[in-house]
Amino acid sequence: MQEITRILHSLPIDPLTGAISVPIYQTATFVQEAPGENKGFDYARSNNPTRQVLESLIATLEHGRRGLAFASGLAAIDCVLKLLETGDEIVAVDDIYGGSFRLFTHVYEKFGVKVHYVDASDPNEVLKVLSPKTRLVWLETPTNPTLKIADIEAISRFAHAAGALVVVDNTFASPALQRPLTLGADIVLHSATKYLAGHSDVIAGLLATRDEVLGDRLKFFQNACGGILGPWDSWLTIRGIETLPLRMEAHCRNAFAVAQALTQHEAVAEVFYPGLPSHKNHVVAARQQTGFGGVVSFTLKEDTTAAALAFVTSTKLFKLAESLGGVKSLLCHPATMTHKSIPAEKRRAAGVKDSLIRLSCGIEGAADLVEDVRFALNALGQLTVEAEQSLHH
Ligand SMILES: *Cc1c(COP(=O)(O)O)cnc(C)c1O
Repeated sequence: MQEITRILHSLPIDPLTGAISVPIYQTATFVQEAPGENKGFDYARSNNPTRQVLESLIATLEHGRRGLAFASGLAAIDCVLKLLETGDEIVAVDDIYGGSFRLFTHVYEKFGVKVHYVDASDPNEVLKVLSPKTRLVWLETPTNPTLKIADIEAISRFAHAAGALVVVDNTFASPALQRPLTLGADIVLHSATKYLAGHSDVIAGLLATRDEVLGDRLKFFQNACGGILGPWDSWLTIRGIETLPLRMEAHCRNAFAVAQALTQHEAVAEVFYPGLPSHKNHVVAARQQTGFGGVVSFTLKEDTTAAALAFVTSTKLFKLAESLGGVKSLLCHPATMTHKSIPAEKRRAAGVKDSLIRLSCGIEGAADLVEDVRFALNALGQLTVEAEQSLHH
């Protein structure tokens, strides 16, 4: 069965009324016939029928056994970290999502959890730092904002041999393009805020696990710590996922067109997109993904914050905002936005140059997005010429 058919028909028809849309069970509690005798629901933190549909859906999408839904991507990440004990170590990708870095550093380090950051685009770099203390290998692929690719299969083999679990933040690819559990990962996580919900209208996080025992442990922490997703936001996320494969096709098509246009423009220095044959791990991406995603990053020949700011304020369709993965195109300037709190030298060393710009290509017409980017790049040339002329007068 094709993926879109499988997704749509895995959603249950409401047994009570035949409603084809999943009902929103806006309730905190469930009436019991006798103490402990109920219809599978007792209190909505532990279980809610609308959330349960979403949780089964993410398990289905990721080819896992258990799914869990949280109030945000970070709440999902936090739940995974609850598996750790003092003295445990994490090996994580060096250009990890900023919020994950903050959680590791400012919340979990004080409980004695140690994190080693490595360039996971080479699996041997992961192998080098694995130790008997490593409990989790934390991958993101593609990464944000430089679109590095990690070989999930190779790294999972190394990690499992060392007795560690593999966690993949699959936010950028989405399960429409990449299914880490089928490549050896143990836990997949999502900021469903991005492609899964897909309309920039909800904050949500999801987990899926390859086995039931691990899923049940995480469900224990979900209930014990309480960062669950509410029924309305669960419904919105289900509704978004119904069109995920269609949207991802458009995101990929548009990103590819924009990436190509960027490589052809004289104002552009480097283009980061796993779909370009020039990308360091294009071959790995082509093997483990069925599409290359909707995010493209690039730097300018004039590698200055001023040039980047001129670009990000002159596009018309790409709106300046944090976040990504929505139907409408967004762009951001990591150096002054998402990566602002990282010292400039450290940020540049991680590949986030002053002029780096991240584009989240929406589902608009490809030609319109290409024109928008070209217009802003051409205007940039003009701005630069004007700036130079004023220098000579
Ligand atoms: C946005 C994001 C997160 C955090 O998710 P929230 O829903 O904002 O809490 C985690 N990982 C990646 C890769 C993200 O882009």
